[in-house]
Amino acid sequence: MSTENPGFNTRAIHAGQAFEPRTGAVVPPLHFSSTYAQDGIGGLRDGYEYGRGGNPTRDSLQEQLAAVEGGAHAYSFGSGLAAEDSLIRAVARPGDHIVLGNDAYGGTYRLISRVLGPWGIGNTPVDMSDHDAVRAAVAANQTRLLWVETPSNPLMKISDIAALAEIAHEAGALLVVDNTFASPALQQPLSLGADVVVHSTTKYIGGHSDVVGGAIVVNDAELAEKIGFVQFAVGAVSGPMDAFLTTRGLKTLGVRMAKHSANAQAVAEWLTGRPEVEKVLYPGLPEHPGHELAKSQMSGFGGMVSVQFAGGEAAARKIAESTTVFTLAESLGGIESLVNYPSEMTHASVKGTELAVPVNLLRFSVGIEDVEDIIADLEQAFAAL
Ligand SMILES: *Cc1c(COP(=O)(O)O)cnc(C)c1O
Repeated sequence: MSTENPGFNTRAIHAGQAFEPRTGAVVPPLHFSSTYAQDGIGGLRDGYEYGRGGNPTRDSLQEQLAAVEGGAHAYSFGSGLAAEDSLIRAVARPGDHIVLGNDAYGGTYRLISRVLGPWGIGNTPVDMSDHDAVRAAVAANQTRLLWVETPSNPLMKISDIAALAEIAHEAGALLVVDNTFASPALQQPLSLGADVVVHSTTKYIGGHSDVVGGAIVVNDAELAEKIGFVQFAVGAVSGPMDAFLTTRGLKTLGVRMAKHSANAQAVAEWLTGRPEVEKVLYPGLPEHPGHELAKSQMSGFGGMVSVQFAGGEAAARKIAESTTVFTLAESLGGIESLVNYPSEMTHASVKGTELAVPVNLLRFSVGIEDVEDIIADLEQAFAAL
């Protein structure tokens, strides 16, 4: 890239994507090789030695990920949870503590409480909007990481990234933001004071429901070195094909997020005030408690809409099983609309804990189909109630 301050889409399309010099191929080739010929022992051609340590396709993705998050270093992993696990291994030791949102993604909580807990890493879930409670939880232990999702999955709560960064830093902890729901097209946490951004690139960044992956992005060089070491030493890396698909998806993230946001706003407005609906959880609605904060730290409200139904669990289940444009499935962030019943699906792992999700709640990942068709689908599903 030769422009001085390239905009988001220019970075998404060009960072790490220089054409291949031998043939001029505009799309960099996909490198599957697990190993690299050496010109004499230790004579590496371009720093590449072995695929776990480095792969040009993965490097392209990492450069692109760093550029879109406004970070200096990015690391790509085989899944979002693999990225989270590697991050925690890189920075926390037995005896350290993690304070996380009490509405964190169920898989994150499962990893922290059930895998890392027995290794000696403690955790306290708290309401991230209650800053006094967050400060107290951070101070009560040897807190290494303050971990927040905003918007959160699936309750769509908005947390103040800049304020939480201050709370973390006062205590010598790092603020980690799981930026999966907003994506870097709508929110760049490092610019708001966060130390680490994590992603499930499976979702909006990949964007086409055809790849599982994760990422960590940071600015600090020392922190980057620790994460890079764990990526290499543990080896939870993304494979070349996965990295390639993620790169291809990321190039169109900006246009996709604009359409996801517009469609989700229309869906949220259509749902609002209907008798079957108890509550619509979407930060783009003025009555959402995080609306003003979302406006200040996001450049759009995203494609996720959660709904609580007046008819309780039965109504939620009936709607989930009656839609046809919305496919009933786990995951989110793809171009196609998906509906999910979190308490039995994505968040089944936190059932019965304080992170449990209401049983009358459905989470809609609003796709980029024609919005008239999306709303017509909801209309016919509501008629089935
Ligand atoms: C899906 C998800 C994860 C986990 O990512 P995987 O790619 O499924 O391992 C983490 N955080 C959030 C917010 C997610 O939605």
